Amino acid sequence: MKWTVQKIISWSQDYLQGKGVENPRLDVELLLEEVLGISRIRLYTEWDRPLDEEELKKFKSLLKRRVQREPLAYILGRREFYSLGFKVNSAVLVPRPETEELVEFALDFLKEKKEEKIKILDLCTGSGCILISLLKNLPQSEGVGIDFLTEALAVAQENAAAHQVQDRTTWIEADLLQDWPAEILSQKFDLITANPPYIPESEWTQLQEEVQFFEPKSALISGPHGTDVYAAIFENLKNILASGALFIGEMGEEQSKILSSLAHEQLPDIKTSVLKDLSGKERFFLISNSPR
Ligand code: GLN
Repeated sequence: MKWTVQKIISWSQDYLQGKGVENPRLDVELLLEEVLGISRIRLYTEWDRPLDEEELKKFKSLLKRRVQREPLAYILGRREFYSLGFKVNSAVLVPRPETEELVEFALDFLKEKKEEKIKILDLCTGSGCILISLLKNLPQSEGVGIDFLTEALAVAQENAAAHQVQDRTTWIEADLLQDWPAEILSQKFDLITANPPYIPESEWTQLQEEVQFFEPKSALISGPHGTDVYAAIFENLKNILASGALFIGEMGEEQSKILSSLAHEQLPDIKTSVLKDLSGKERFFLISNSPR
């Protein structure tokens, strides 16, 4: 049998579906787009195009990885976030759509200061997607990204270079649960962002296979309540939030109470608030250091 675009799409879709993969059609099309080097829309105009041996072999090897539940973003080596393309690999969390909302809220907070030189700190930066998206939209600003994985920082740096913001970024390797670097503690930031690990250890085995078997556990899990990294952040925040500054972090949908009490232990006079994501779940924890 000759494998045409049409045949391979319909066969692979059924195959992935049978294996319990969600959204199989989109994944198949994106893999085929990669193998054939043509856009998804052209798959439809080249419906009867046969695949040669080489293409078929490459497609099968990618499909096999997807069947084994490897996230599509790792197979392709990239993911779109806030309308920008980001390199990703297994050292970094795959950027999520909810996190784009964090960027949106942060930009909204800064909308009056768009042309000013804002100092941003992004904790647990991973691929650098939050910081780089912010800097792309705040042309005078500069930012520091922290992560404890050397391999993650290498990805973030590549992304910063690809988006031409490397001159406005500094990347620091540090474990937020240990000592915070003096060069951070001696500065004040106008905006501090974080998508720290926030899932409780006991929930690890309930996560989707894609997440559990492939994504870095250290980017997702943080102690028995999922709050260890947050506690370390709150401990240090008072030293580094500039007057009028905002902290915005992503959190689990049931964490607002525990985070509020942890935050108020460290910063008794501070104003905290919670924002929901587009699906209506409490998702973002905010601390504003507004002058009284
Ligand atoms: N900041 C990155 C993201 O939002 C990585 C977050 C993490 O590793 N916990 O995707």
